[in-house]
Amino acid sequence: MMTTNIAEVLSNCIQKARRLPITAAMEFLSDMLQRWFNDRREQAGKFPTYLGKASVGHCKERNEWALTYNVYPIELTRYLVKDGKHDGFVDVENRTCICSNWDLDQLPCDHAIAVARFTKTNFNSLCHEYYNTSWIQTAYAPAINPVPHPSFWEVPNEVSSVIVLPPNSKRQAGK
Ligand SMILES: [Zn+2]
Repeated sequence: MMTTNIAEVLSNCIQKARRLPITAAMEFLSDMLQRWFNDRREQAGKFPTYLGKASVGHCKERNEWALTYNVYPIELTRYLVKDGKHDGFVDVENRTCICSNWDLDQLPCDHAIAVARFTKTNFNSLCHEYYNTSWIQTAYAPAINPVPHPSFWEVPNEVSSVIVLPPNSKRQAGK
């Protein structure tokens, strides 16, 4: 099942950890994040283009859509793009289009791609730097350090001497 809801995706990923004791659950989550970060670091390092794989796919798809569009310059940096449906109004200088997709994603919409084709501009220049592979590598650069075995922990006396009890809770009537 595909979803764009990140909370739902994460919820599904940690489903297994929910029934584990807290220390095992933390180890499960740490392992999962280590694996994810490492995979993404490696993928970004191997990708041969300026943009990441998903962004390249995004631009390729919109480029195919834009093949039949007609572009009409209005000013030096503003264009009307006739797409046969709702049309686009692209402002290259302010990196915006009336369809709002470019504004929201910071990746060019099909109208902006049509303008880039018209002006012979590289699509990469229309994408936010967030999407280039070096930014992706930087985002996943931090290490997720594993928790060592408890025998290696250095616990200060003021912490180890504290006795932690479960919270007082009153069971509600009927439960
Ligand atoms: Zn647009």
